[in-house]
Amino acid sequence: MITLKHPFQKAIGIIEQLHQQGHEAFFVGGCVRDWLLKRAIGDIDIATSASPEDVQRIFSKVIPVGIEHGTVIVRHEGESYEVTTFRVDGQYSDQRHPDSVTFVKSIVEDLKRRDFTMNALAMDHHGLIIDPFNGQSDIKTNLIRTVGDSRKRFSEDALRMIRGLRFSAQLGFTIEQTTLECMIEMKREVAHLAVERIRTEMEKFLSGAFIQTGVSYLDQTGIYKHLPVFKDHPGVFKLMMDLKTPLQSFAQFIALCHFQRSDIPMNTWIREWKASNKTKHEAMALTHALTYYHMHGLDQWFVYHLNDKHIEHFMTLVHILKLNDVTVQEIRQLKQTLQITSKHDLAINGHDLQQLFPELKPGPWLKEMLASIEKNVVMGTLMNHKNELKEWIICHPPDID
Ligand code: ATP
Ligand code: MG
Repeated sequence: MITLKHPFQKAIGIIEQLHQQGHEAFFVGGCVRDWLLKRAIGDIDIATSASPEDVQRIFSKVIPVGIEHGTVIVRHEGESYEVTTFRVDGQYSDQRHPDSVTFVKSIVEDLKRRDFTMNALAMDHHGLIIDPFNGQSDIKTNLIRTVGDSRKRFSEDALRMIRGLRFSAQLGFTIEQTTLECMIEMKREVAHLAVERIRTEMEKFLSGAFIQTGVSYLDQTGIYKHLPVFKDHPGVFKLMMDLKTPLQSFAQFIALCHFQRSDIPMNTWIREWKASNKTKHEAMALTHALTYYHMHGLDQWFVYHLNDKHIEHFMTLVHILKLNDVTVQEIRQLKQTLQITSKHDLAINGHDLQQLFPELKPGPWLKEMLASIEKNVVMGTLMNHKNELKEWIICHPPDID
């Protein structure tokens, strides 16, 4: 029974409105799986017999995100729900989207197109489960099994193999024997997929509570040999072999690999995985932090450069790499003792320096001197007071040939 406290309760209004208009509607896919697994539920998706046009007509707040694939986002009581018309997919010739979709009449036909039995579940508004492929039994025995013939399903869309690995890393499930054999047989198909699709799944893979299980399947299937960067440097995969701790970001993964194999440039990881600028900046910040910490340990210069938003991710990497342990508290405490938090806080600027040496033309010496003052102030060997800084500068004039 779906009671008031039920996580699906808020969405029931959508199902009821569709029913009132004479359509069928069900909760479907990952949300039903996670509900049965008693895991936190992510997005609640709804499948319906109503056409996308009907859905747009029935609800007042809609965002037609993927009309050509039958999906409309419905805003309801402050939440967003994907409402998708029952459909079957055509070919995936661009390895991104199905070339065409065909709307179908029944939920069972819709469930047939889904990747794994545990994801091919629907639930009605009373909590009754529709399970034509024995997904519940596979969930009970922790099995990842394709819906229908694995070879055919993987040849329709090779991303399903990566998704299978991702679910093993998230749930710790076993990949059913035939499904696994077909992954081994079809692994090369992964090379033709759009990298963005692989990356989205790999991000979930890397943050999986059972990442070790996932990595062992990545190894066993040989799929890693067809992934960006690993395909040219299969030896790098060894670095992942003892990964037991889930990662919190893709940037952490890049930093972890690059720190241990600095011969593969950071840009290669960013370019090949088509990572965002945000990921690039975090990966670079984490790599710098690891390199400095590895060489010098904890000091003021280190905490000065470590952005608050990267502390936690840095700590996880320190743990994984078995570098000297450090606590968040130690980092924060040392940060609080700093005289400045950025070079803009310095009691002196480039203009002051020029006034002290009016005979010198502005040039690189200005930047070098400011950098030297910044480091001394951060390390506490100089007080950030204008007069003290001026005295120091006069004793350490710029070295110009
Ligand atoms: P998560 O909780 O991480 O979102 P999910 O199972 O909901 O997991 P989604 O990518 O949101 O994964 O997909 C929603 C549903 O759509 C899946 O449960 C599955 O039924 C179906 N699905 C998604 N991708 C594919 C695919 N490539 N092939 C077949 N079915 C798919
Ligand atoms: Mg989902």
